[in-house]
Amino acid sequence: MGRLPTRPPWPVDLEGVGPSQQSGPRTAVRPQPLQEWDQETLVLGIETSCDETSASVVKGGREILSNVIASQTDLHRAYGGIVPEIASRAHVEVLTPVIREALLQADATFWDLDGVAATLGPGLIGSLLVGVAEAKSIAAVLDIPFVGVNHLEAHIYSSFLGDPGAAWPAVVLLISGGHTLLIHARGDGDYEVLGGTVDDAAGEAFDKVARFLGLDYPGGPEIDRLSLLGDGDAIAFPRSMIDEPGFDVSYSGLKTSVINYVRRAEARGEEVSVPDVAASFQQAVVDIQVHKTMAAVDHTDGERVFLCGGVAANSGLRRGLEQACERRGLSFYVPSMELCTDNGAMVAACGTALLRRGRYSALDTAPDPNLPLV
Ligand code: ADP
Ligand code: MG
Repeated sequence: MGRLPTRPPWPVDLEGVGPSQQSGPRTAVRPQPLQEWDQETLVLGIETSCDETSASVVKGGREILSNVIASQTDLHRAYGGIVPEIASRAHVEVLTPVIREALLQADATFWDLDGVAATLGPGLIGSLLVGVAEAKSIAAVLDIPFVGVNHLEAHIYSSFLGDPGAAWPAVVLLISGGHTLLIHARGDGDYEVLGGTVDDAAGEAFDKVARFLGLDYPGGPEIDRLSLLGDGDAIAFPRSMIDEPGFDVSYSGLKTSVINYVRRAEARGEEVSVPDVAASFQQAVVDIQVHKTMAAVDHTDGERVFLCGGVAANSGLRRGLEQACERRGLSFYVPSMELCTDNGAMVAACGTALLRRGRYSALDTAPDPNLPLV
């Protein structure tokens, strides 16, 4: 294993009972890069930002040895959405067994680990606290570095786990339940946000439309499934902001159009084809995102597109973006379904990249529910 010196010179305040007295930024750059971080380095990644409890062991930042994901979907289904208090409690219950399982599957022990990464934000504060506290405890006991990871940056790193050929720079479409961002990613930690949603995130729109249509929770995969049975051209829902300059998108108007369409049809006593509504809604989202992503490629003179985040699991979006990239001769990277939704592997990969650059977090680092990407 790429072992680190046992007594590293970073601020591990094991003796203090309260927060360390140290001032200044919570994340510091070591004066010397860690030469020891080689292809054998093992990092444990912990993800508890929302409703997935996940732990993963990743070797050398790219090879997934294990990626255990305990989804809380069944716990929240009855409420039609995530209940933060239930989410935090479930993380407390399952995180330690999930970590144990991740180590077992990776055929590793705690003592083989070279670092621990956990999602610092953005996310639900109660959920984030569980993962961060556990990660810091492990790091403190083992005397290995802890690194807090930005959840959005971790999603970007899922592209590298999905395909060893992935490389910088890239135009990244990061599309999930909480975020919809177009990013020009120039290199590790070097990101420019080109645009994003001005209202609802794409996944949020999927979930709200699905709920209105009376579909099961979570709504995104349900709309995706139903779309296969419907006609995406059946209803001309608006493509808001598609022709405006810039890279921002808006989904609240599209959501309202779907609701108005269904209500009007019902008022007229017409039968509504739910698969056609689902397919036409999904097609509108795909058209908007493909158009804006290609505009971002033109703007940055890019050659590569990464698609990541929970909505990257959408079959229509995967196909639409892949075809658009093919037409323009661009390389297109989208991770497997398991790596699209929240997982510990992407946290470990991102954490390894940070540690390689000498970035670690002090043990009094607190999670931040609104942590920005840049
Ligand atoms: P966040 O981290 O922002 O909470 P995730 O990355 O966990 O979001 O992604 C969850 C979101 O992805 C949900 O809104 C869900 O409906 C959506 N989603 C998952 N699979 C699909 C799919 N096949 N089609 C569309 N949306 C999907
Ligand atoms: Mg996510």
